[in-house]
Amino acid sequence: ATPTSVMVGTGRGAELGVLFRKGEALQTLKDTKVVAFDKTGTLTQGHPELTDMTVAEGFEREEVLRLAAAVEARSEHPIARAIVAAVGNTVLPDVSAFESVTGGGVRASVEGRTVAVGADRYMRDLGLDVAAFASQAVHLGELGRTPLYVALDGRLTAILAVADALRPTTVATITHLHAMGLRTAMVTGDNAHTASAIARQAGIDTVVAEVLPAGKVEAIRKLKVADGLLAYVGDGINDAPALAEADVGMAMGSGTDIAMEAADVVLMSGNPETVCTAIALSRAVIANIR
Ligand code: ADP
Ligand code: MG
Repeated sequence: ATPTSVMVGTGRGAELGVLFRKGEALQTLKDTKVVAFDKTGTLTQGHPELTDMTVAEGFEREEVLRLAAAVEARSEHPIARAIVAAVGNTVLPDVSAFESVTGGGVRASVEGRTVAVGADRYMRDLGLDVAAFASQAVHLGELGRTPLYVALDGRLTAILAVADALRPTTVATITHLHAMGLRTAMVTGDNAHTASAIARQAGIDTVVAEVLPAGKVEAIRKLKVADGLLAYVGDGINDAPALAEADVGMAMGSGTDIAMEAADVVLMSGNPETVCTAIALSRAVIANIR
């Protein structure tokens, strides 16, 4: 492409809500074969809500939720915000010895008790057996909800679930990308059952679930080998390495500054449908100058 056509394309992109941080991206995007998405905050709204809670025999729901929320008040994860929101105006006790494990969960000391909240693999790392709630967890996952566990003093105490709705334009975005001849993928740290259910709702081709941030990079590498030139769309701090690894990294304007800095393209509206706009623009600009 000529410098002039890139300039014109970049200007047109800005009008359409697509900010090209690198002129190169405008030229590369037209050759995209697969678009991979982060789940939380990209395909979904990123504002999960608590939908389910079952406590083990001998425990009280309100009390377990209050302790879990006290620990989660220290975390910035969207799941943490859902749990804190669920206790409303309840005053939460102070916590100490707070610990957060990426892709796992959180733990702290509250009122003299050790309280842990997180995914099944986090509970297993803490030496706890989640078998008692396993079938319920699968069921919740199949509904597209994320199952979480609470442990009190080393005893599995409750299973909860949070649900994060798809963005209103997600299904149309995926349909549109397929109509443009592209493949689609989703890469997430979330539970495999949950991820598959959400991917099915969205119409996405390939799912990679239960990956840590480094695993996202590995997943991107494999998808590039399998499908060819890859664009990755994400919003979180965790997505920065994957955005850098992709042939074209695209950050949601509604996301974190760190994601935007790692990206080649910023989708200003935070609407995933702008991905189609960006690719179509690249195709049009390059076609025009041939
Ligand atoms: P993603 O951004 O793709 O959702 P994360 O790596 O942030 O992935 O999280 C993966 C999983 O780790 C979550 O689905 C959840 O089960 C667990 N997890 C992470 N942080 C927390 C937290 N603060 N409280 C409870 N669970 C958590
Ligand atoms: Mg995200």
